Amino acid sequence: MAGVDARALGLKIQRTFTSLLPVDEGRKGSCRRCGQCCKLAFDCPFYDGKGCVVYSLRPPQCRKYPRTKEESIVQDCGFIFGD
Ligand code: SF4
Repeated sequence: MAGVDARALGLKIQRTFTSLLPVDEGRKGSCRRCGQCCKLAFDCPFYDGKGCVVYSLRPPQCRKYPRTKEESIVQDCGFIFGD
């Protein structure tokens, strides 16, 4: 896995295990379906280059992304966090 962003990979693994927890109350905005979070650490096999092919059935770790400010490492995500 040469070239993999270790921080992004760690957060991706972490968010799988924390995906049943609630979304932070300070989160605002909405997903604009840019696909950036589908490519964190490695390309998701369900991302076809234009979008998620299982969007309506996507798992909680994708549905809730970014669940916390810590998870929000994508530039220009449609979600932001207040203080
Ligand atoms: S990075 Fe943010 S705006 Fe883009 S697809 Fe993921 S959740 Fe949606």
